[in-house]
Amino acid sequence: MNANPEAVVIGAGIGGLLAASVLADFYDTVTIIERDRMNLPDHVRPGVPQGSHIHGLLAQGHQVIEDLVPGFDEDLLTGGAVPVEFLSETRVSYQGYTLLQSPADIHVPFASRPFIEARIAQKVLALPNVRLLDGHTAQTLTATPRGDQVTGIQVNTPDGGCADVPADLVVAAPGKAGHVPAWLHRLGCPRPPESRMRIDVGYSSRHYKLPADVLGKDRFFFDGPHAGRPCGLMIGAQENGTWVVTACGYGAHAPDRNGHDFRDVVARLAPSGVAECIASSPALDDIHTFGFPVSVRRHYERVNRMPEGLMAFGDALCSYNPIYGGGMTSAALQARALALTLEETGPRLPHRFYRRAASSITPLWTLSTTVDHLMPEVPGRRPCYVKVAESFLKGLMAAAEHDAETARTVARALTFAAPLTRLIHPTLLARALHHRHDVPDLRPLNGGHVAGACDD
Ligand SMILES: Cc1cc2nc3c(=O)[nH]c(=O)nc-3n(C[C@H](O)[C@H](O)[C@H](O)COP(=O)(O)OP(=O)(O)OC[C@H]3O[C@@H](n4cnc5c(N)ncnc54)[C@H](O)[C@@H]3O)c2cc1C
Repeated sequence: MNANPEAVVIGAGIGGLLAASVLADFYDTVTIIERDRMNLPDHVRPGVPQGSHIHGLLAQGHQVIEDLVPGFDEDLLTGGAVPVEFLSETRVSYQGYTLLQSPADIHVPFASRPFIEARIAQKVLALPNVRLLDGHTAQTLTATPRGDQVTGIQVNTPDGGCADVPADLVVAAPGKAGHVPAWLHRLGCPRPPESRMRIDVGYSSRHYKLPADVLGKDRFFFDGPHAGRPCGLMIGAQENGTWVVTACGYGAHAPDRNGHDFRDVVARLAPSGVAECIASSPALDDIHTFGFPVSVRRHYERVNRMPEGLMAFGDALCSYNPIYGGGMTSAALQARALALTLEETGPRLPHRFYRRAASSITPLWTLSTTVDHLMPEVPGRRPCYVKVAESFLKGLMAAAEHDAETARTVARALTFAAPLTRLIHPTLLARALHHRHDVPDLRPLNGGHVAGACDD
């Protein structure tokens, strides 16, 4: 590395900003290159269209972001985010079972994605060695003639020109599509192997001004899709008295396709009286839709030959079914992995980062893909463990409807306030077994379609 090492981050989304917060401790300068203009904080940007849809921060992600960007939580709350005790102030249903409400000591702020991003940006861009080049688009890497060391990035500038930004390390967080596999290919390195799961999830969201007690004492309503009813509804409090209402569904049941529209899902799934309240309240915007065809994990940790000085980060490394709310937490865990890797010395920085990040994000990927395998609309063969996981999960959720301790353990595991492995405990296994008779066997696991509440 040079005497005055420089790092470049591509993308000022939550992934890129968290990476920059870590790099600022190790590099003399950190330059963030962002295609969008960042002059309208708290607004949905063209480069982050998912910002119009509900974004829940898992407990673990919340904690890790606070560790990386101290004061984040206070900024959120003083700015108008809603403090929520997950479980006693949330009504959440997984697999058709509603967790018994009780205090679970899980405290998460609720706010929109642009609001969360702006609070992180405010702190990271105030660091003395971090600078932002917004309105700039990363085009291609520059590298040594042998292609074994990245030397920077070429960017398109707002005036239509082109410029080179030198760097010892380029961290690419440009979102799900990513550019790194193609860049590696051009440098003569192999593309990473990918795990892909076709899920065809659709989102449809709208924002409202609703009464603070529209859900009674609750601040979040989640009734997730499940086999036999492949659509779901989320209603969440956000900053400054606004609410977001998001309908979601799999395959043909994605809202706004085949007549299963937003209003229809709200009318069918919202708690009694709430759909009427939403229908009669002023909407703050139009209905926004988003299609999420596939979850993708890129296994760079399995690539042996890659240049020094280049890393894929955030959604560019792994992007999950958004229904499970893991994307921002994944970015935070990757940032923590980056910090731990930079604290060590030694060659092959990208490889060491990828190996560490892989073990951090595996639980999120496992949860998301295992639960997706339970949906008949998701095509493909099921791994052999899925049948066992299905009966365990359903028995567990059935138990969590009646038993406060089970509900708390489930809530803590699914928000990653506690490790997911906490679910595999003899007491919980016994409870799941005890309640397995409460589980209706709704459909086969082979992809067959079964009529449900979303069908006409
Ligand atoms: C519908 C939906 C709902 C979601 N809900 C949740 C949720 O509830 N909870 C949760 O934790 N996560 C959720 N996510 C995931 C979450 O949005 C992301 O995982 C997380 O924000 C991390 O994204 P990122 O920073 O890696 O990428 P992005 O947020 O996509 O940011 C990428 C940035 O890179 C910029 N960029 C792209 N190309 C270039 C280029 N060539 N040059 C310069 N800049 C470039 C873009 O403009 C953008 O600013 C959801 C995602 C979707 C799609």
